[in-house]
Amino acid sequence: MTHHVPQGLPGELKHYIGGELVDSVSGKTFDVLDPVSNTPYATAAAGRAEDVDRAVAAARRAFADGPWPRMLPRARARVLNKIADAVEAQDARLAELETFDTGLPITQALGQAQRAAENFRFFADLVVAQADDTYQVPGRQVNYVHRKPVGVAGLITPWNTPFMLESWKLAPALASGCTVVLKPAEFTPLSASLWAGIFAGAGLPDDVFNLVNGFGEEAGDALVKHPDVPLISFTGETTTGQTIYRNCAAGLKGMSMELGGKSPAIVFADANLDAALDSTLFGVFSLNGERCTAGSRILVERPIYDEFCKRYAARARDIVVGDPHDPATEVGALVHPEHYEKVMRYVELGKSEGRLLAGGGRPSGVDSGNYVAPTVFADVAPDARIFQEEIFGPVVALTPFDTEAEALALANDVKYGLAAYLWTSDLRRAHTFAQSVEAGMVWLNSHNVRDLRTPFGGVKASGLGHEGGYRSLDFYTHQQAIHVSL
Ligand code: NAD
Repeated sequence: MTHHVPQGLPGELKHYIGGELVDSVSGKTFDVLDPVSNTPYATAAAGRAEDVDRAVAAARRAFADGPWPRMLPRARARVLNKIADAVEAQDARLAELETFDTGLPITQALGQAQRAAENFRFFADLVVAQADDTYQVPGRQVNYVHRKPVGVAGLITPWNTPFMLESWKLAPALASGCTVVLKPAEFTPLSASLWAGIFAGAGLPDDVFNLVNGFGEEAGDALVKHPDVPLISFTGETTTGQTIYRNCAAGLKGMSMELGGKSPAIVFADANLDAALDSTLFGVFSLNGERCTAGSRILVERPIYDEFCKRYAARARDIVVGDPHDPATEVGALVHPEHYEKVMRYVELGKSEGRLLAGGGRPSGVDSGNYVAPTVFADVAPDARIFQEEIFGPVVALTPFDTEAEALALANDVKYGLAAYLWTSDLRRAHTFAQSVEAGMVWLNSHNVRDLRTPFGGVKASGLGHEGGYRSLDFYTHQQAIHVSL
């Protein structure tokens, strides 16, 4: 397997606090690996409470005295559009770095960089177009909503599609007039190191954006508990979300939680089978399967089950696993050896919980790097761990069903409720099923299409609150009611 190493990699990834790149107060660092060689290519500053204190102090200064929260929405939007221009202008470099650090296939990393730019454009437009409620009692009263940014936003992000997911929080937080401290994931800090230059070049005032690298239990924990951070936007694992939820309680902080998933794709016998196959393969094998909305359980109606399994497995065996930088690659290397080991444990477990149809270990002839062959298990029972637990890799469970009621029960029989995908040509069934399934987002005969104005979020163990469109702006702002009698 070839291994492309980008030119000009930084050897040290620092914090960005108060407009400067700085080391940790303690001087401590940690190694950052790339997922193909699994050797360290850089060290990152290991932030702790004292570094978070400095970052929050800078962000608070910018919030209390700086121009950003006080600027007209249109003036903020101009800066956000310049940020989008800068992201677009370096999308190829961003994708190269993201692919090197995460193992994502290069073509998909490029799409994520472009989506990050789009997030800034979208929230620039939204904040300018925003209208707030006004209620009049004729001749007696006027009541109106005055919207203001909440303060210093703590943003904590995961390692899958890191740059794009950071933009999904940074753009609405900044559009709303908040100042921020970002704590990127420790497995993948490389692309986040580009934000400082992008923001400075676009004219974001000093101290508005701050970044502290480090481990969740140290830097992340200190940010969550900091008394001057009134809200936390978190994306990551459900168990981490539970810890953060508890830690936010003391400060009664605002929280937005985008957590894990085990989303079902339900394929009825009347579905367009070719389209359903394309979509369900994409749903779990794109982004290396490291995708929160992965359709990792496929429920198939009995009359087409055998044919579906056969065609699905044949297509899975044809997926190109390889060097993440090769444009032909469809599945790259998993992010980190720890995560690779976790996925491989599920692959081994699956061999006793289902019938192995494809994959089942490393691709043949590949003996280094975090590579897992796209793996398909059939006849997986609902009490199997590979049916219930989030694997977050290129592994899928196929399960047959006989009736619509059984399909719904199976779809809902997990603790998660992030997404669901439904394939049927029966319009009535499509909508009644969609409305009954326990999922924050449902795709009917489609996948990977989403208007950024729609709510994004899960139910049950998949999250709390919604981001997306005006819901993001609601999260980062207080809506103060002002009442006037005439
Ligand atoms: P993770 O929970 O391990 O880490 C996420 C972030 O939280 C990291 O920055 C980490 O350092 C930090 N963190 C860890 N412990 C912390 C603590 N005690 N206090 C504060 N911060 C802490 O998640 P991950 O493994 O990086 O990401 C994968 C998970 O993210 C999967 O479960 C996936 O489904 C989920 N995810 C969800 C969405 C969504 O929108 N619902 C999107 C992407 C990923």
